[in-house]
Amino acid sequence: MFGPDFPFAYDDFLKNPAGLGHLPPAMHGTEVAIIGAGIAGIVSAYELMKLGLRPQIYEADRIGGRMRSEPFKDGDGAFAELGAMRFPPSSTCLFHYLDKVGLQTVDFPNPLTPAAHSTLIELGGQEYYARRHTDLPVVFQDVELAWQAALDEGAHFAALQAAILARNPNAIKSIWNPLVARLDEESFYGFISKSAAFKRLGFRAREIFGQVGFGTGGWDTDYPNSILEILRVVATGAEDNHQSVVGGVERLPRRLWEHAPEGCVHWPAGTSLASLHGNTPRPGVTRIAPGADHKIAITDRYGNRNEFAAAIVTTQVWLLSARIDCAESLFDHELWMAMERSHYMQSSKTFVMVDRPFWHDTDPVSGRDVMSMTLSDRMTRGTYLMDNGAGKRGVICLSYTWNDDAMKWISLPLDERVRLMLHSLKQIYPKLNISEHIIGSPITVSWESDPNFMGAFKANLPGHYRYQRRLFSHFVQDKLPTHQRGIFLAGDDISWTAGWAEGAVTTALNAVAGTIRHLGGTSAPDNPDAINAWDTLQPVKLQD
Ligand SMILES: Cc1cc2nc3c(=O)[nH]c(=O)nc-3n(C[C@H](O)[C@H](O)[C@H](O)COP(=O)(O)OP(=O)(O)OC[C@H]3O[C@@H](n4cnc5c(N)ncnc54)[C@H](O)[C@@H]3O)c2cc1C
Repeated sequence: MFGPDFPFAYDDFLKNPAGLGHLPPAMHGTEVAIIGAGIAGIVSAYELMKLGLRPQIYEADRIGGRMRSEPFKDGDGAFAELGAMRFPPSSTCLFHYLDKVGLQTVDFPNPLTPAAHSTLIELGGQEYYARRHTDLPVVFQDVELAWQAALDEGAHFAALQAAILARNPNAIKSIWNPLVARLDEESFYGFISKSAAFKRLGFRAREIFGQVGFGTGGWDTDYPNSILEILRVVATGAEDNHQSVVGGVERLPRRLWEHAPEGCVHWPAGTSLASLHGNTPRPGVTRIAPGADHKIAITDRYGNRNEFAAAIVTTQVWLLSARIDCAESLFDHELWMAMERSHYMQSSKTFVMVDRPFWHDTDPVSGRDVMSMTLSDRMTRGTYLMDNGAGKRGVICLSYTWNDDAMKWISLPLDERVRLMLHSLKQIYPKLNISEHIIGSPITVSWESDPNFMGAFKANLPGHYRYQRRLFSHFVQDKLPTHQRGIFLAGDDISWTAGWAEGAVTTALNAVAGTIRHLGGTSAPDNPDAINAWDTLQPVKLQD
């Protein structure tokens, strides 16, 4: 997911045998606090450990964060991907770590992909069954063409994508920077409704596009967000060729936690994050404050206070005012404003385990699969079918929703959610008895109701570019007053492509670069880091 705001080749940087940097030997063994054991916290801790530091990870819940692969009780290995579940190959840094710990991926069953086998779109009571795009009525293809035309007309999309594929920072910036200035205050809906192509097709096309979308399903709950957010997703290939992680993506942060990298500076062979922590992260954090000698003081939920030479905070930023007593003086008011204005998508998912992937059975009358990956304008919205292989339990994500559609579920208990979802699916598949296949207990999540998250993932609203730039830039600290240095923000909220784990990983690498500098180190010779590249690549500044 190269660029477009900060077109730095993080994957090349990671692959370079010169490594990520060097620290003065006197700093080896220095403790650094990492708050949160999601993928950003684990990656930053893993890389700092390799450089000879002693990361101390604090976690309020469990390793993995929003990479949460929840096992079904007595489910014989079946699990529900409650957070991140599908990963584009353009997430090259994420795949770097997947490869490092030997995790395999397979095609994710998105709508209209071969992995889904078949897709059923149900809109306004009309059903459309398809194995591929071209099976759908012409109106769907018109909508797809209108989206491509809107992108080219309003965002020079073909040129932007070519510049990204060519990894040409100058070409990217010459297209992207003027787009930022022009489109920061435009919503996704405003962008498409003003495009000549969608105007020509009329309201119905915008409705179909909202329900069916591109790649992964309907995007109308994203309509109020800034169009820049959507352009980043499509331009970097984030919606393309999705993979899922065999055995669940939570295995990635867990394997990195246990992984003993070769060639660690300072630490003996066999050292891992798990071994440095006695196998369990430190407890959740309740207070962050300035300590003595410009250190950062961290207090955990049991009142233990420790001071660290540096700290990396990877929780959602709302938690810094709502759940953690964080000293105001550690960040300036502009940055606090950016944190408080952060906008989160809500998201709800509900899964059931089934005896077998029965959806491959053929209806003898219609000749169709008895059930398909389903997109609907009913409350369920997206229903995904996970085939775990012959002889294995299947898993159905009965419903995956965002924003208003997620809020419809939030107050409903688990059994009521499942009952309503099955009721909706019954209207779509009247001949099919899904219930007779369900075994074990269902699993559900509403991320916004979990106090350690308060939302699913960030999505900037129109006019939020300046806030996002402040958050992303925070790792470059040479111009900050001394009392605000040494604490770094990383993770999904800080990323330009929130909602995609790749951004959590790359912001973790930024925080690592900042921490190295803060402790008197440098980047490795012949492997410039994001701080070296800052002056030339930094995201465009908009005038106030
Ligand atoms: C519903 C959903 C769907 C998604 N789908 C995809 C997808 O398909 N593909 C993709 O690439 N990405 C997806 N994402 C985004 C991806 O999950 C995130 O970008 C990534 O997991 C974020 O990692 P992180 O480390 O930044 O944050 P987190 O994973 O949130 O880690 C932060 C950690 O901080 C902990 N914490 C909170 N408070 C405290 C405290 N006081 N003290 C200590 N620890 C604390 C939390 O428990 C958590 O473990 C999805 C996310 C969600 C929620």
